Amino acid sequence: MGLEDVRKAVIVCTKCGLCKTRTNAVPGKGNPNSKVVFVGEAPGRMEDERGEPFVGAAGKRLTDALARNGISRDSVYITNVVKCRPPDNRVPTEEERSMCRNYLEAELDLIKPEVVCILGNTASSSVLGRGEITKNRGKIIEKDGRKYFLTFHPAAIIYNRELASVFDDDIATLAKIIKKD
Ligand code: URA
Ligand code: SF4
Repeated sequence: MGLEDVRKAVIVCTKCGLCKTRTNAVPGKGNPNSKVVFVGEAPGRMEDERGEPFVGAAGKRLTDALARNGISRDSVYITNVVKCRPPDNRVPTEEERSMCRNYLEAELDLIKPEVVCILGNTASSSVLGRGEITKNRGKIIEKDGRKYFLTFHPAAIIYNRELASVFDDDIATLAKIIKKD
């Protein structure tokens, strides 16, 4: 199975209730050889309309922070914990997350990135079993043979200058980590 098979499975998936309200499922997108995979929470309205991850306001923040560190969006891989938009952008339930989990696992298994960048508390609690982004952000955490780097969700920084500058610093740290070799 390759990434294209994962993508095809996601776009027709009906494993959880979110399939009933979505416009488009949103598989991960980007460079299959990327050294880093970014993991967000769930598609929002723009993503649901376009079938692509992080193409709205939060995506712009992420894209801009990457660009400031000389990283183009196309050179990395971007995905979410759940691939379909929850109604009114509510946080995805445990059930939805667990039904969707095998797609994220497959993406990470196939890409084998040097580091997985976890964006925000939902991704952190889903993937690592810990929320507390504020406490764990900015550093590498190893779990089950994978390396994770945690930072805020880019939506959380939109109206908060302080968080925005910490987010920028974190992305700069991450850029150094993946450019090291
Ligand atoms: N927020 C997310 O968590 N993911 C997206 O794809 C867009 C916004
Ligand atoms: Fe399938 Fe995931 Fe979409 Fe649920 S959120 S329907 S499990 S792709």
